[in-house]
Amino acid sequence: MTFSKIIRGALLATGFVSSVVAGIAHAQAYPTKPVSLIVPFAAGGPTDVLARTLAVSMSKSLGQTVVVENRLGAGGTVASNVVAKAAPDGYTLFIHHNGMATAPTLYRKLPFNALTDFTYISLVADVPMTLLGSKKFPPNTMPEFIKYAKEQGDKINLANAGLGAVSQLCGTLLQQALGVAFTAIPYSGTAPAMVALLGGQLDVLCDQTTQTLPQIKGNTVKLYGVTSAERLSYLPDTPTLRESGLKDFEIVVWHGIYGPKGMAPDVVAKVNKAVQDALKDPDVIQKAGDLGAVIVPADKQTPAALQAWLKLEIDKWAPLLKAANQYAD
Ligand code: ASP
Repeated sequence: MTFSKIIRGALLATGFVSSVVAGIAHAQAYPTKPVSLIVPFAAGGPTDVLARTLAVSMSKSLGQTVVVENRLGAGGTVASNVVAKAAPDGYTLFIHHNGMATAPTLYRKLPFNALTDFTYISLVADVPMTLLGSKKFPPNTMPEFIKYAKEQGDKINLANAGLGAVSQLCGTLLQQALGVAFTAIPYSGTAPAMVALLGGQLDVLCDQTTQTLPQIKGNTVKLYGVTSAERLSYLPDTPTLRESGLKDFEIVVWHGIYGPKGMAPDVVAKVNKAVQDALKDPDVIQKAGDLGAVIVPADKQTPAALQAWLKLEIDKWAPLLKAANQYAD
C-alpha cells in the first residue's frame, strides 16, 4: 500500500474526507429547500412590504422560495435574538432597519451583540418617514400641530412599534424637540397602528413612506411633515420637520440583510448575489420607487458596507438616545 493510500484510508476512517466532500456539495447545492426571511414587525407594515418585495425577486435568483416570517416583539429585538441563535446554514435570513443600531443603547441587557453575532450580507434601501395625523385629529398643518401638542400634551396618543422601532425613535425626537410628552400606544408593528389611525382610535403616527405613501395619496390621513433633511421630490409641498423649527431633525430609515454569525463564505456570496439581483430587478425598482424607497448604490450592496454602516449608526445614535434617557432591560 502506498503512503498516500494509507493517509487516504486513515482520513476516510475518521470521516474527514466524507465530511469535507459533504460540506462542498452543500455549499454548491445551496439552497435545496425554502429560505426564511425574518421580519421583526407585523405583516403588512413598511419593513414587511420591503421584505416581501425583495423575497419574490430573491426566490427567482436562488431557485428556492424565500418565505417571509414575522417574528414580533420588543421593538425588533425578539427577532434579532432568534436570528442570532439560529443555525448559520443560509436558511435563516433577516431584514432589519435602524433598530439594529439603536437597540444596543436602548436595552441594558440585550441577549445578542449586534456587531458580532451576525453575518452581514448587504445594505438594501433607504426610506424617509412622514409625520401623520388621523383625519379626526384637529390640527391640519405642522404649525397647528405644534400649537395643539403644546396645549394638549398627554391627551394626544402617539403610536410606536416598541423600543427600537423607528416610529418610537421619531416620536422620541419629536417630543424632545417640542418639549411635550404624548401618551405612547405600543403596537407589534406600524401596520396595526395605521389601521388604528385610519379608524380614528389613534391620533399621531410617524412611519416610513413604504406604508404611508398610498394613504397620503389616497388622502386618508393628515400629513404634517417629512423626517428627511430635504423635501421629497414626490411630496414637494410638504415641509421637512427641520423647516418647521425642529432643529437638526433627520431620520432616514436604512435596511440591511443579515444571517446568523458563521455562515459559509460561499453561501454568503450566493445570498448577496440574490440580494444584488433583486436590487436590479425592474419590478423591485418600480415598487421601491412607488413607495419612496431609495435602493442603495452598488458599492453599498456588500457585507463590509453593512457592517461598517451599522457601527457608524450605533455610534451616531448612542449619545442622542442617552440624552433621551429611555431604557429597557
Ligand atoms: N415602521 C415600524 C417601525 O416603527 C416597523 C414596521 O412595522 O415595519 O419601526
